[in-house]
Amino acid sequence: MAKKNQNPHLNPDTFRDALASVRDDGKRNWVYPKKVKGFFFRYRTYFSWILLAILFAGPFIKIDGRPYMLFNIFERKFIIFGAVFWPQDTILLIFLLLILFVFVILFTVVFGRVWCGWACPQTLFMEMVFRKIEYLIEGDANQQRALNDAPWTGDKIWKKGLKYSIFTFFSLLIGHLVMAYLIGVDQVVEIVTQPPAANMAGFVGLLAFSGIFLFVFAWFREQACIVVCPYGRLQGVLLDNNSINVMYDYVRGEPRAPIRKNVVEEAPKGDCVDCGLCVQVCPTGIDIRNGTQMECVNCTACIDACDEVMVKVDRPTGLIRYASENSVTGGVQKLFTGRVKGFSVVLLVLLGAFITLIATRDELAGTITRFPGMTYQEREAGKVSNLYNITLINKSFESQRVEIAALAEGMEVEIVGAKEWVLEPQTKFEGRFFLVRTQAEVKVPQEKVILQLLSHGEEFDEIQTNFMAPVGVTNQ
Ligand code: SF4
Ligand code: SF4
Repeated sequence: MAKKNQNPHLNPDTFRDALASVRDDGKRNWVYPKKVKGFFFRYRTYFSWILLAILFAGPFIKIDGRPYMLFNIFERKFIIFGAVFWPQDTILLIFLLLILFVFVILFTVVFGRVWCGWACPQTLFMEMVFRKIEYLIEGDANQQRALNDAPWTGDKIWKKGLKYSIFTFFSLLIGHLVMAYLIGVDQVVEIVTQPPAANMAGFVGLLAFSGIFLFVFAWFREQACIVVCPYGRLQGVLLDNNSINVMYDYVRGEPRAPIRKNVVEEAPKGDCVDCGLCVQVCPTGIDIRNGTQMECVNCTACIDACDEVMVKVDRPTGLIRYASENSVTGGVQKLFTGRVKGFSVVLLVLLGAFITLIATRDELAGTITRFPGMTYQEREAGKVSNLYNITLINKSFESQRVEIAALAEGMEVEIVGAKEWVLEPQTKFEGRFFLVRTQAEVKVPQEKVILQLLSHGEEFDEIQTNFMAPVGVTNQ
């Protein structure tokens, strides 16, 4: 009979009652994952290089001077793979988010948390950047533990100082990267090259993001996945017995027992030699042999660790592997279940609707508002005018010449500063114009006027507004 682990976070009877990273007294139980090497770690490392290169190159890629990716939540302007989405395209963005949401659900139902282990920026930076720096400076898990328990000697001050200096540098780098995705790389360069007072909001944003990342990667770490990430908490409802996850093959592994030399076992034993290596390498401090757990980010470290052990004890690898509960118990892996088909249909419908909306969206859009705080202006020669703001958005990839006309007899349009507006492709323009009419023609104090917006002589929008003027006044 295998001895049960006395640690309540690893004990199969009590592991669901507490978090592995929180002690019984409520204090942090610092996780020191042992260094790992192996097939999956090697390919995750290569993949991380590609992802990091894409992430850092992203804000610098421009098409016709515009960013390829921009998520400007402050101005509600988004550029996704070169396509610009303006505030007027909210419905498109909602569809895009819904598509992403359903895709994530579908992907999770089939492949579990592959995203977490391979592509999530949290795991990417934590395991492939910050953890590696830590190993380099402080050594493997046991050396880190010893260093943290040791008194503050010159060596400890040097190692900790160096580690946190490098952590701070990388946090600043990631903070600037996130800002570049939010406001554009040119604005970030402007903030960095000018005195803080010139761009105080941007400067504070840069420091805040960098500070948050330093906090997350230097201290908060696995808690971000376990306590904060909503995706992790969704696993309980998304995964089923056919979902593929990092899984311990308990059919093959149990009853676990260490190899005892020169001892004839009374009963047959499973393949797990109870070495505990899969627990030692786990960055969230769990024991995968207790089954699928919310804390498991599918990082594959335990697969590599166990495979190494299996090779040493001359047993087949894959005791911990990507598998579903059903494939472990029955040897059958079913991918296209009823749930998968259902979500696929929803995804296809959403994609179809999104493509239709994109194909039929107006290339030009305009909004007109009265200039705030003004009613009318009395002019020379018996005329009266109203001032308006106009916002024009050119969503097309060609420049557009826009004119405006009032569908009201005797009403003139007077554009402030120009005769017409020329909009560059994928740009927004804000301007002003007057509506002018002879005072003697004013019949009502608030006249409804239809304004016609034309591009290259063709109407693309009609907007109704009000023209205000006093009735019964004769100007000289
Ligand atoms: S159980 Fe395995 S796959 Fe899951 S987080 Fe721990 S080491 Fe990674
Ligand atoms: S690494 Fe493999 S053999 Fe060792 S305890 Fe974990 S599952 Fe068992």
